[in-house]
Amino acid sequence: MPQHEGVTYHVSSAWLRLVQGDITEMDTDAIVNAANPSLMGGGGVDGAIHRKGGSKILEECKRIRETEYPNGLPTGKAVITSGGNLKAKYVIHTVGPVWSGGSKGEPELLAEAYRNSLKLAVSRGLKSIAFPSISTGAYGYPVEKACRIALSTVKDFLEKEDKLKEVVFVLYTKHDFEVYKRAAEEILSKVT
Ligand code: ADP
Repeated sequence: MPQHEGVTYHVSSAWLRLVQGDITEMDTDAIVNAANPSLMGGGGVDGAIHRKGGSKILEECKRIRETEYPNGLPTGKAVITSGGNLKAKYVIHTVGPVWSGGSKGEPELLAEAYRNSLKLAVSRGLKSIAFPSISTGAYGYPVEKACRIALSTVKDFLEKEDKLKEVVFVLYTKHDFEVYKRAAEEILSKVT
């Protein structure tokens, strides 16, 4: 799917971009996978990343499970593998919360998934990162709510941390792109 539409905002010394497209096509330093705790692949964006990235990513995920997280990656945490056959050099795997009404700590856990992914990117010296809309597919988080947490968490992070230069949200559907864009118009200041 071509990255056919985009809008760019400025936060401190970084760019924050929204595009509609397929995250597996991104050539940012890292792309983020909305994984599940098993780290063994799955549906949605997770399946697409493993399909296109090849077996190297899965091998590294297996090693992470064996060494660091034998019981699976907890919600809100993030780990990093290489990008395998993808254009991106790295994949950061994080687990967003499953939506169960909003009173089970979902907003904070979703913010943690974004924050820990961003921190990991910075700790590896990466300059650019692309996110999908974490939790809003199979995990059922309403996109109108999730996008506000996604955008404000990234904004707050970029205001405190100047090493990351570009954060891209890659929205798979036109609908999600429009929802993110409407929220961004309120939360961020646009570059004309
Ligand atoms: P989760 O389990 O965290 O909800 P999903 O993969 O089911 O993860 O969905 C998260 C979001 O990723 C959804 O908005 C879905 O439309 C989107 N998505 C699916 N495939 C891709 C892709 N190739 N690139 C970007 N986003 C994608």
